[in-house]
Amino acid sequence: MLIAGLQKFSLGDWAGEPACVIFLAGCNYQCPWCNYVDYFDPVAGLEEKALWKFLEEQTDKLKVCVISGGEPTIHPDLPDFLRGIKNLGYKVKLETNGSHPQMLADLTKDNLIDFISLDVKAPKEKYGFLIGFPQDSLNYLLSQIDQSLAFLKKGSVDYELKTTVGTFLTPDDVWQIVHWIKPAKKYSLINFQPRGTLDSGFGAFEPYGLEYLARLRDKIAPFFETCEVREGALRPGLF
Ligand code: SF4
Repeated sequence: MLIAGLQKFSLGDWAGEPACVIFLAGCNYQCPWCNYVDYFDPVAGLEEKALWKFLEEQTDKLKVCVISGGEPTIHPDLPDFLRGIKNLGYKVKLETNGSHPQMLADLTKDNLIDFISLDVKAPKEKYGFLIGFPQDSLNYLLSQIDQSLAFLKKGSVDYELKTTVGTFLTPDDVWQIVHWIKPAKKYSLINFQPRGTLDSGFGAFEPYGLEYLARLRDKIAPFFETCEVREGALRPGLF
């Protein structure tokens, strides 16, 4: 497995339970607003042996491994990697962009994940702009995301849908996303962090702020069982 980084401790990723966050290298999107650029490069990453040593030593302190990226589902060896983590007794939360629905279904069937957090980046009409691809190349990808959404809504595994919201998305865009994904168990609005973006020009877009997003949440909340607002995470130092 290509590991780009490790956040050794977090209380903010699973209902206050002590977790670590493992960043797998590489991504199939090029979101211009992405703050995770450092996690694309396996060369600067962590040796897998060192990661397993860390995980084996932390089983009495940590309860959860969050698998992030990059995009974890691009790695064919993800099932074996997660099997090793589950065998150590950890719960697993997977962060994904939803582009590989079959991988989500297979991991769930094999009891290798306990929670999926799926990023819905934009309304369909604006997806290309926000993932860095020509809009007219996205039919297949959008159908994959639709399949991932349909899979999650079957309820085989606990999940949330989430969207990072900065001024590159208008409130009307958020409403269009809501009409696409509703109803759903949980939807979260994440306040954009304008620092360290993949496209430096996207640093000019601003966050709306938590209060504004909370007012938006109050309007869209009836479409979801739970709807919340969070600050976007700028992950601290790695390794
Ligand atoms: S924000 Fe986009 S480019 Fe960045 S890791 Fe997520 S899917 Fe990949």
